[in-house]
Amino acid sequence: MNPFDYVQAADAEQALALVAEAGPGGDAAQAPRFIAGGTNVLDLMKENVLRPARLVDLKRLPLDRIEALPDGSLRLGALARNADTAYDPRVRAALPLLSSAILAGASPQIRNMASNGGNLLQRTRCLYFYDTGTPCNKRTPGAGCAAIGGLARQHAVLGASAACIATHPSDMCVALAALDARVELRALRGTRTVALVDFHRLPQDQPERDTVLAPGELVEAIVVPPSRQYAAHSVYLKLRERQSYAFALVSVAAALDLAPDGRIRSARLALGGVAHKPWRLPAAEALLAGQLPATALFEAVAARVLEGARPQGVGLGCNAFKIPMARRAIVRALGQAVQGTVTNTGDNTA
Ligand SMILES: Cc1cc2nc3c(=O)[nH]c(=O)nc-3n(C[C@H](O)[C@H](O)[C@H](O)COP(=O)(O)OP(=O)(O)OC[C@H]3O[C@@H](n4cnc5c(N)ncnc54)[C@H](O)[C@@H]3O)c2cc1C
Ligand code: SF4
Repeated sequence: MNPFDYVQAADAEQALALVAEAGPGGDAAQAPRFIAGGTNVLDLMKENVLRPARLVDLKRLPLDRIEALPDGSLRLGALARNADTAYDPRVRAALPLLSSAILAGASPQIRNMASNGGNLLQRTRCLYFYDTGTPCNKRTPGAGCAAIGGLARQHAVLGASAACIATHPSDMCVALAALDARVELRALRGTRTVALVDFHRLPQDQPERDTVLAPGELVEAIVVPPSRQYAAHSVYLKLRERQSYAFALVSVAAALDLAPDGRIRSARLALGGVAHKPWRLPAAEALLAGQLPATALFEAVAARVLEGARPQGVGLGCNAFKIPMARRAIVRALGQAVQGTVTNTGDNTA
């Protein structure tokens, strides 16, 4: 472990100033970092992937509230714990998709530590990214990518580039993408809001940049617009190597607004485990609008979502299985959503 400076901030302005005064660091791995729950950033420091000169602790910032806004949106503070968010009665009632997605992730202990802001900014679980003995463009730009042609079971089948085929690991973000969430950001020069679907990036030729967050910029909150119309028919389906403590191979967030005659008024659909960001395709959702639910329709939607999907890796390391798995998961999740909402209780068996 490298020596580093640890400081606590009392408010957002102080946190931003403490990062700015530490300077940019020699390279990206050495840049000063915020720490919230520490469940990802400390692991990365232990593996020598990150060597920040300074850690600025955010835990004292007053950003841990979950508030109902006048327009019916819910504002989830960046410092609110994943567990507190998932079990908040307003989230359970109005956003069961989000609650279930959070509870499908990690373990109770980790969810008790992990913050909402940290969840958005957790790094990929590509094993080569964590192994500093292998080349990785995300860790060291220009070094190469050990996963291309290597063990790629966990990797992307959509939106990958010649520089990086990693996936974004968050469950929470898949539901947030489906629910049109927005992210509130603060920098020294002011605030801005970014749609969650635009917050995470595809790797292109800059895989070292996971998101559009500027260096030293702070996530203050996530705002989820009113989504009551989907509360009765939403499902977060997560397929993984084992039933607990595992990241998604493929996950599907599906939510339907059904009319009294059974027709689909509108639909929300996003995938996890398949790309460098939560994967949402409004053109595929549009195929569902105004239609009566049917397996053939769901298969057509799945085919549209997966257009252009390409496997990575070779032999046992190949992830070709993800494409039919994702197709079946979409059909299954939409079929379950027609029947009602599947509520994950957090015991990691859902
Ligand atoms: C064993 C294990 C299993 C897991 N399984 C899953 C899983 O199945 N599904 C899943 O979704 N997740 C899983 N996780 C990941 C877990 O959800 C994340 O580690 C957690 O959400 C990160 O939150 P944190 O507050 O601890 O972030 P930290 O580790 O404190 O920070 C993570 C990153 O975010 C930055 N950061 C934190 N807060 C802010 C902010 N407000 N503004 C700007 N930058 C900020 C930090 O600088 C750092 O770069 C797992 C983790 C572990 C260790
Ligand atoms: S897939 Fe991305 S994160 Fe993994 S080794 Fe390649 S460049 Fe690094």
